Amino acid sequence: MRPLTYSRATDTDDALALAAAHPTSAFLAGGTTEVDLIRAGVSHSEHLIDINDLPLTAVEDRPDGGLHIGALARMNDVARTPSVVRRYPAISRALLLGASEQLRNMASMGGNLRQRTRCAYLRDGVSPCNKREAGSGCAALNGLNRGHAILGTSEHCIATHPSDVAVALAAFDAVIRIVGVDGERSLPIDEFFLLPGDTPEVEHPIGPGELIVGIDVPGVPLAERSIYLKFRDRQSYEFALVSVAAAIEVDDGVVSAVRLALGGVGTKPWRARRAEAVLLGTPANEASFRRAAAAELEDAVVREHNAFKVEFAQRAVVRGLTHSLNGVRP
Ligand code: SF4
Repeated sequence: MRPLTYSRATDTDDALALAAAHPTSAFLAGGTTEVDLIRAGVSHSEHLIDINDLPLTAVEDRPDGGLHIGALARMNDVARTPSVVRRYPAISRALLLGASEQLRNMASMGGNLRQRTRCAYLRDGVSPCNKREAGSGCAALNGLNRGHAILGTSEHCIATHPSDVAVALAAFDAVIRIVGVDGERSLPIDEFFLLPGDTPEVEHPIGPGELIVGIDVPGVPLAERSIYLKFRDRQSYEFALVSVAAAIEVDDGVVSAVRLALGGVGTKPWRARRAEAVLLGTPANEASFRRAAAAELEDAVVREHNAFKVEFAQRAVVRGLTHSLNGVRP
């Protein structure tokens, strides 16, 4: 491994130029994960481009009722922004449950979205892992897979995406803004995360020199009722076994609008569109919630240690919808 080199970008154009000049570079924001990945041999970056001087820390309400979050806004700052707490409580809660206080003060929103899976086989440096070395196999398929995904998997990878806030952002149809040498473009969050398929090493449809500059969240009045629940083996320093972002609106006892997304069960932040479709127009009660949850989990593919997640996720959906309906704030 060659020694790491470092430069500090003064603005976005400078960051893109530095990336073009260093083909094996990575952008450095909060610095909470990239260096670990280099040490573990997962990332082969040889040059770090510090982007912390870029003016991308704003968290602001948009005139159209939406929200803009700069890519360099810190997790804690976003979580505690009053309008995020009031208008998108699931985003705030997902951020607060997403890491320790120290990490939340450092970690950026863009970095959170780009973080890699916590599958231990990816990081151990020796096990077969198609994400670390394409074509080498997947040790998790027949290994310890209790924490692995049951939705969106393939025969080549069953790793979950670890972000909490991405689950809440998926529920609200967030859009990721990206810049590259060819200009700026936007990707709906559902397209920003790729299913593993035959190429699990490709996690996002963006090039190595492209930079996330922000996240736009559309105005969703229903989001004010949203909640985020996270279930894990212990209450801190732990990733979700199952999590749920839920928001529901009811007219005359019937579901008129709903947003639902799951974490800990999918190979990407999992928007539960099938469950949403089942729920619309049905009575807002536990039987409907249970039916919708079962529909969403119908295609689950389980492995030796993770079959429990099917029932677990269904119960989480029912609880999430019930809490949103009753205005419970965990
Ligand atoms: Fe690698 Fe994915 Fe298999 Fe984990 S689940 S070992 S990340 S290919």
